[in-house]
Amino acid sequence: MDIKSFNNEENAIRCLCPVCPVYNQCMGKNNELFFCARGKSTCPFEKWGCKCDKCPVARDYNLVGLFYCEKGAGE
Ligand code: SF4
Ligand code: SF4
Repeated sequence: MDIKSFNNEENAIRCLCPVCPVYNQCMGKNNELFFCARGKSTCPFEKWGCKCDKCPVARDYNLVGLFYCEKGAGE
């Protein structure tokens, strides 16, 4: 995968993290999202209901993982 072309605004706005139940105020305040490209969250959170398997970005780039907010990018 070409990480440079992958980590762009066009993909960031398609990221489902902001509508995930895990997504919280802290993440919003820090402008965190698109964790599969931009790395893990710095916020505390409870792990459940990850939306990555429904995400159009994941589908386009053949990402099969979940909880990128915990494990970070490239995993
Ligand atoms: S990586 Fe998954 S669990 Fe974390 S905020 Fe995004 S959709 Fe939710
Ligand atoms: S796979 Fe997960 S972290 Fe990556 S863009 Fe989709 S919802 Fe966001």
